[in-house]
Amino acid sequence: MFPSLETDRNRAKALCLTCGRLQTLGEYCSRCEAPLHQRKPHSLPLTWGLAISALILLLPANLLPIMIIEKFGSKDGDTIIEGVIYFLRHKEYFVAIVIFVASIVIPFIKLLILFAALLVQRLKLRALIPAIAKALRFVRFIGKYSMLDVFVVGLMVAMVHFGQMASVLPAPAVVPFAAAVILTMIATETFDTRLLWDIYDDKHH
Ligand SMILES: [Zn+2]
Repeated sequence: MFPSLETDRNRAKALCLTCGRLQTLGEYCSRCEAPLHQRKPHSLPLTWGLAISALILLLPANLLPIMIIEKFGSKDGDTIIEGVIYFLRHKEYFVAIVIFVASIVIPFIKLLILFAALLVQRLKLRALIPAIAKALRFVRFIGKYSMLDVFVVGLMVAMVHFGQMASVLPAPAVVPFAAAVILTMIATETFDTRLLWDIYDDKHH
C-alpha cells in the first residue's frame, strides 16, 4: 500500500517535541537539550488512567445533585437529568436540549471515543485506525469548547430558578463533574495518535 513509506521510526529520526528540530534519534535534543522522544512518553498508561478516572467521576457527577435550590426555607437538590426533566416540563425545550447535550451527551461521547482509540491500539484493530483517528480529531475540536459544559449547567439552572425567589447553591456533583471534564481534556492530549499509525504501518511486517 505504501511501498516507500518513511516515518521517524524506520529512519531513526526524532522531531524534538519542545523545539521542533528534526534530528537523528538520541537521548537529548542537539539544539535545546530537552529529552528526545519519537512519541509522547508514557502516553498509553497516562491516557488509560485519566480516562478510567474520568469515567468513574461521571458517576457521582450524574447521580448526585448538581444544584441545590433553597426556596421558602426548604432545600431541594437536582441532578443533571432532573434539571433536564424540569426544563422539559416547563416547556423550556431549548434550555433542556443545551443542558442535555453539553453536560451528558458530549462528555460521554468524548470518553467513548477515547476508550475506543485505546482499545483499537491495544487490540491492534488496524482496519479501524483511519476512522478512530478522525474521531479523535473531532474530540480535540470540541475539546476547545468543553469548559462550556460546566458553565452551561450552572448558568442555565441558576437563571431560571432566580426568577422564582430562590437561592441556588452549587451542590456536591459540581466537583466530580468539573474534574471529569478536565481529566478527559488532559487525556485527549496525553494520547499520542501516532501510536495508532505505528500499528497501521506495521501491517506489512
Ligand atoms: Zn529541541
